[in-house]
Amino acid sequence: MKTIAAALLFFTAMTTQAKPVAIVIHAGAGRIDRDSFTPEHERLYHATLEQSLRAGHAILKGGGSALDAVEAATVIMEDAPVFNAGKGAVFTAEGKNELDASIMDGRALQAGAVGGVTTVKNPIRAARAVMEKSPHVLFTNRGAEKFAADNGLEMVDPKYFFTERRWKQIQTWLKQQEAKAKPRAAAEPDRHADYFSTVGCVALDAKGNIAASTSTGGMTGKRFGRIGDSPIIGAGTYADNRTAGISCTGHGEYFIRHAVAHDISARIAYKKESLAKAARDVVQTVLKQAGGSGGIIGLDAQGNVVMEFNTNAMTRGSIGPDGILKTAIFK
Ligand code: ASP
Repeated sequence: MKTIAAALLFFTAMTTQAKPVAIVIHAGAGRIDRDSFTPEHERLYHATLEQSLRAGHAILKGGGSALDAVEAATVIMEDAPVFNAGKGAVFTAEGKNELDASIMDGRALQAGAVGGVTTVKNPIRAARAVMEKSPHVLFTNRGAEKFAADNGLEMVDPKYFFTERRWKQIQTWLKQQEAKAKPRAAAEPDRHADYFSTVGCVALDAKGNIAASTSTGGMTGKRFGRIGDSPIIGAGTYADNRTAGISCTGHGEYFIRHAVAHDISARIAYKKESLAKAARDVVQTVLKQAGGSGGIIGLDAQGNVVMEFNTNAMTRGSIGPDGILKTAIFK
């Protein structure tokens, strides 16, 4: 009897041990000018990353799903005015906040996304609702808002997304366009404004499921209706239990053209590359050669974490299978 009990205990210990949980997040990659980055900002960034990681990790540790973990971690970053997602989103050339988000469940390649929403408090929740409560993948603008409201999500006045810091940023951008004598219609969105600071998360749960999420206000000075890579499945977000989960940040047009998130997953699937190698090649070679700046976070089924970027900074953090929390901003 004793031997059976001991064997059972051993078996349980082995099977629990064999199932790591892990979480990785980003809050944007870009060029950060160290001089204009105050210690107060730095403190806030690290504190928000930590809060987000702990919220997601607690769900994973409690046996919750990767999907719930990425949603919870992303909501915290959306609600934090310091990041360019939800409250704190950047302004379009017209002085509006238009938000994009997506989520993917690596179990059966289910995905949901919203683009160009202006009244949904937490776009990531709307993305999840699209995935779970509709037969579609991507809703935009008024349709996305109606869908979110019909599904009981919290709706806000567009003014909710206003922050002084982002408003100053768009004013500076507008002045720069004037100085360059470029009308808004022809202007490029700002590639470097205070760097990108979109948010994203990838999690691995104890059942071996991977989920990924991305949420953003897009790029400062983007034109009306412009949608970036963040809500495009395969560009800004991808998750497949058989390969990895990926969330991207950077100059969205490049991430769309190069299908960055899916390219990394495909390299793992077809070329049998490690997540680290696939991520490095795509970010440091493919994207860089094309002129696309930004970065990615990723996580595979073994709990290997990658955070690869070709800019001088990417706000990022992780809690790996070892349970150690790490956050960083610069290289
Ligand atoms: N990728 C986002 C976009 O192009 C911006 C970002 O990552 O900050 O909309």
